[in-house]
Amino acid sequence: MIDLLAIAAHPDDVELACAGTMLMAKRDGKRTGIVDLTEGELSTRGTVASRRGETEAASKILGLDYRANLGMPDGNIELSQENLHKLIVQIRKLRPTIILAPSKYERHPDHESAAELAHRAWFYGGLAKIETVDENGEPQAPHRALMMLHFMQSYTFEPRIIMDVTPVFEERMRAIEAYGSQFIQPKSHGAHFTSEIAGDKTQPETYLTQASFFDWNRARASFYGMMIGTQYAEPFWAQEALGTKDLFSLVTKKVA
Ligand SMILES: [Zn+2]
Repeated sequence: MIDLLAIAAHPDDVELACAGTMLMAKRDGKRTGIVDLTEGELSTRGTVASRRGETEAASKILGLDYRANLGMPDGNIELSQENLHKLIVQIRKLRPTIILAPSKYERHPDHESAAELAHRAWFYGGLAKIETVDENGEPQAPHRALMMLHFMQSYTFEPRIIMDVTPVFEERMRAIEAYGSQFIQPKSHGAHFTSEIAGDKTQPETYLTQASFFDWNRARASFYGMMIGTQYAEPFWAQEALGTKDLFSLVTKKVA
């Protein structure tokens, strides 16, 4: 069983978008997990094997209780019954209270497909007449998470809620740095990559390897932190209304 489950198209998507929120949940004693739909095999830099090692390192930093890869083809996440079924099996096995998923409108089509697949699996997983079995061939009980939030990747949106991640921010950056093959060594950040590919000039430049990428990632967290009066934060969008039993838990500012 998992309290907070994040679903994403590629290993490193969750880390880049909301590793801080995963860490904050962990810090609060919740059980956390990530299901990656593909192995990111179309990535310009690194190999599937090197990315697996990086994912493992990042998962350790996040203290995850569960991480799985559904092995769907990168660049071709189909909204098929087969893929839907695979994801429902995971959700019914893990029985999360909250699901984090990509947002509906995204630059990378895989992110949009992952958002749609997560939405369908979230809903149809709750229907008893859709039957699935676990690894042992035992029938699974239906399950629908009580809340679904969408994290921010390339495209921005007006957040419905902003999560303060200041206390775990440096760990969050270390989880991102674990994916060394995807980034260059950022001078301004003082990061220490373990991957040999990081900083290797023979590897091609990509969107992620631009010198400013780390700064942008940090700046976004800083921007949303400013919105709620904290140092760093991660934004989320939700289709359904968000409630609270404690108005005071919504106070994040220290100065009015
Ligand atoms: Zn991605």
